[in-house]
Amino acid sequence: MASIATPSVLRAARTRLYPSARSIFNSQLSAYQRLLSTLAILEQRGGKLQPSSLATIAAAQKLGGSVTGFVAGASVKGSAAAEAAKIKDLEKVVAVENEAYEKGLPENFAPLLAENIRSGNYTHVIGAHSAFGKNLLPRVAALLDVQQISDITAIESEDTFVRPIYAGNVILTVQSTDPIKVITVRGTAFQGVETEGGSAEIVDGVDPKAASTTEWVSEDLAKSDRPDLATASRVVSGGRGLKSKEEFERLIPPLADSLGAAIGASRAAVDSGFADNSLQVGQTGKNVAPQLYLAVGISGAIQHLAGMKDSKVIAAINKDPEAPIFQVADVGLVGDLFEKVPELTEKLKQ
Ligand code: FAD
Repeated sequence: MASIATPSVLRAARTRLYPSARSIFNSQLSAYQRLLSTLAILEQRGGKLQPSSLATIAAAQKLGGSVTGFVAGASVKGSAAAEAAKIKDLEKVVAVENEAYEKGLPENFAPLLAENIRSGNYTHVIGAHSAFGKNLLPRVAALLDVQQISDITAIESEDTFVRPIYAGNVILTVQSTDPIKVITVRGTAFQGVETEGGSAEIVDGVDPKAASTTEWVSEDLAKSDRPDLATASRVVSGGRGLKSKEEFERLIPPLADSLGAAIGASRAAVDSGFADNSLQVGQTGKNVAPQLYLAVGISGAIQHLAGMKDSKVIAAINKDPEAPIFQVADVGLVGDLFEKVPELTEKLKQ
């Protein structure tokens, strides 16, 4: 049997290759990539693909090789699976239609996935580092007897991945020797999927009809007409500096509206009851990477920075010129937010 060097070995050799050898390198690399076969776990809600699914596919495509989507729920074939089939460069969509999987309960979804992974001979399984993925994939990894690689922000090769630890203070490069790599990806790190132009085949997956010990009772979702915090291109976040819920509500929504932005909050603001905990940005909240992140009355603790420091432009309003937020801010306004925010809102409206 011909042996094929792994891309990492090939990459190490790349600098020493003469131009004539480069075409051999490229053909070996693409031959190896053809052997990679990734299952991208797609998240759906009421038949609609969630934005986290696109990050999952983007990461799978970055890996190279063939990419198959997986979706399960009540009537997904005509909805979420059909939507996924249009995504460019997705080879196949495996769909399992069963009401039991509609809410993504990990107790029966994990055995369902493990069964489909085994029957599909996938080398990689990728899901979002969302509540759904974090609940599901560790169980899938355990069923497959492999270690999960969590919250990756970059792919170095087919077995080497980059992930932040200690609230983003240390960037770890991990290499896995497991036969199947089970990975969750940070949504803000993988983008650029083309949602039109594909024509993937939709095929039936295996349904082991595993019993669930958990029953779905109800859900209480925070609804808002504003852009979704996790995917918004602009975010205005308020912190403890706003002093009260009344002041948060008086100052932050008009400023956010004048920018067409989503609203976020620091944990201190959430813990003090100024804002709903679905709005928390940071290590124990949401990760965001908008075009513009405006932090108002937020000091810039490392746990907060962990959730927003990848934003393209960071702006901050704080009365303390020494506040750590100014160390990461591209634009800073030192002053009393109770004066500066109404002034800025007024100017933006004009
Ligand atoms: P503060 O640190 O109190 O800062 C308030 C800021 O407002 C100050 O800089 C002050 O100068 C400024 N200010 C006050 N009055 C005015 C004014 N009139 N005008 C202008 N500026 C003013 N935090 C998160 O945000 N997200 C997380 O996910 C998160 N996870 C955590 C996980 C762990 C395990 C731990 C231990 C902590 C976590 N934290 C998190 C908490 C974090 O350490 C900080 O306590 C928190 O971020 C502080 O919030 P803040 O900046 O709003 O408040």
